[in-house]
Amino acid sequence: MRNEAMLKDFYELATTDAVSGQESKIAAILTQKLEAMGFTVTQDDAGEKLGGDCGNVIGIREGELDGALLFSSHMDRMPNGFGIKPVEKDGVLYSDGTTILAADDLAGVCGILESFRQAIASGKPLPRLEVAFTVQEEPGVWGGNVLDCSVFKAKTGYVFDATGDIGRFVVEGPGRYTIDVELTGKPAHAGADPEKGIDAAKAMGEMLFTLKTGRLDFETVSNFPIVHGITARNSVCDSAGFKGEARSRNPEKLEKYMKYFDEHCRKIAAERGVGIEIVTELSYPTLNIAEGEPVLALAKKACEKLGFKYNPEAGGGGMDANHITAKGIRCIGCGCGYSKNHTKEEYLVLEEFFKLGQLGTTLIELYAEECKAK
Ligand SMILES: [Zn+2]
Repeated sequence: MRNEAMLKDFYELATTDAVSGQESKIAAILTQKLEAMGFTVTQDDAGEKLGGDCGNVIGIREGELDGALLFSSHMDRMPNGFGIKPVEKDGVLYSDGTTILAADDLAGVCGILESFRQAIASGKPLPRLEVAFTVQEEPGVWGGNVLDCSVFKAKTGYVFDATGDIGRFVVEGPGRYTIDVELTGKPAHAGADPEKGIDAAKAMGEMLFTLKTGRLDFETVSNFPIVHGITARNSVCDSAGFKGEARSRNPEKLEKYMKYFDEHCRKIAAERGVGIEIVTELSYPTLNIAEGEPVLALAKKACEKLGFKYNPEAGGGGMDANHITAKGIRCIGCGCGYSKNHTKEEYLVLEEFFKLGQLGTTLIELYAEECKAK
């Protein structure tokens, strides 16, 4: 069945320009919509911390029941997301072909709004409803990283931000480190006295050639695709470096690889007399939700009630769910009905999109049954 309210929200938000770091127009619309539903809305300091024009939007609506449930999706979109004109064709929403559609993640945002709307309209006693609409997810899950979760009381949360049909849940995801290495050698005239130089490029080559990379095991990978050397053709290379990443769904394996990487590169640098600087940063921690955990059990129950196919899966990337879970609120990612996100071919299957509102509403209803009156 068509859900005109969800479609209206989607068109309004998709035709409002936004990009990572410039989410303030979306934030203003969402603030107004949440307030109209009785939420107290604030913004955290993510904008200042990350150099954007607004912070994560946080909404809290006190309930009649003693529990709390969190929902989250992100307000930013990929760079090619200005001037979006959604086009509907045979039950599917596309862009006009010149931009992305931004169903990633506006489908999630609209799904959350609809879930709240329906739950509130039911007139039944509700738990405390909490929402985080985050900024700067696309560049590296930055908004979720700096999100202050101490304002939330929920122990479980649903992050509406995944490809695939409703009922697909991302329950595992890798943690990821970015790795930057800078090497310093010694310049010397390549023709006159090359033996007086220390070749940073050659040390880099040795490091990369002997390093374990690519698929390390079924849940761990690494990749170093960016290399540079700065020098003149007739000088021994005194400055070189490379950049890459490592990911694993197993946090111990990820730490183990980072230690191996560090030792491997420092050993070669020492042997070749090259100065080395290694900068690593945890982009997001591992996500690992087990079958039977309350957050997943409730999702399964909701799918059974609605007749949706329950499909928990491992994902290959990071999302706000990784950060929020690491901060103490167990979260899973939820399929929102979109595909080919981040491209001009991105599309949203409307039948699935409308089901997202039902899923959220049912999660709230079923959770409310587990809560006591205050
Ligand atoms: Zn997304």
